[in-house]
Amino acid sequence: NIPGQTGKTALVTGATSGIGYETAQALYTAGAHVILAARDAIKAEQAASTIQAKGGKGTLEVGVLDLASLRQINQFAESIRKKHDQLQILINNAGVMVPPASKTEDGFELQFGVNFLGHFALTGHLYPVLKQTAGARIVTLSSGAHRFVAAIDFANVRSEKSYNPNREYAVSKLADLQFTLELQRRFERVGDKLISVAAHPGVTRTALSRHMPDAVYQAAITQFGELMPAWQGALPTLFAATSPTVNGGDYYGPDGESEL
Ligand code: NDP
Repeated sequence: NIPGQTGKTALVTGATSGIGYETAQALYTAGAHVILAARDAIKAEQAASTIQAKGGKGTLEVGVLDLASLRQINQFAESIRKKHDQLQILINNAGVMVPPASKTEDGFELQFGVNFLGHFALTGHLYPVLKQTAGARIVTLSSGAHRFVAAIDFANVRSEKSYNPNREYAVSKLADLQFTLELQRRFERVGDKLISVAAHPGVTRTALSRHMPDAVYQAAITQFGELMPAWQGALPTLFAATSPTVNGGDYYGPDGESEL
């Protein structure tokens, strides 16, 4: 159990499955009021019922949010601002992984849109309510995959030979990391008492890779050995969201330690 969460309001995007679901569950168990944001209303209600059935000290609320739609982000954030005076934790968790644009033309747009731009816009729209609590935290899911950007073979980027199933996903996750760091610098510059932190789970068994071509992707991830269960993948996020030792601008990996 995580101490000190009673009375906090936390919003988790992509709370219907994997790491987001486990994060929401843990915060609920610890006593927070958790807003489960999901693009599918039925899945969101199902997730809420399952979480509630396991028991916990918190309360739950569900909201429909497709992060690929700026219009929905705007409407959703407005409804949160109207309903809640304060928001102590924002978890920018939702994510999608699809094959590179050379395989699916809209792959890059979708990935960059949901994984980065959606959260960038959501954070901006929720800033007024986050600002009401000194020490409110924005945790954005990056990934160790951001490092793959350095290995992109730009000279042959459109050739099959340079095919890397993680290429464009990695770019979106690098954007998440850089956004987190710049946001923290901005908070410090303007004197906002907010904390912006990035988390990256180790390689975790979730639905994330379901759109990837099996043979290629599975070959790439077998090098990691046994994948973590989702509850374990949620630990860096939970650490970043709740540990009193966390400082803004940090980046928490699987062992809970800062990597920067
Ligand atoms: P899952 O696929 O299990 O969960 C992703 C969640 O994001 C789902 O709830 C999904 O909803 C939601 N989502 C997808 N597209 C949208 C959208 N357009 N609008 C709103 N919600 C959306 O994956 P993970 O739990 O693994 O991923 C969570 C985060 O962790 C991601 O940001 C991922 O990049 C990151 N991460 C994961 C790692 C891993 O090894 N699994 C490693 C490093 C980082 P729906 O069910 O409706 O599709």
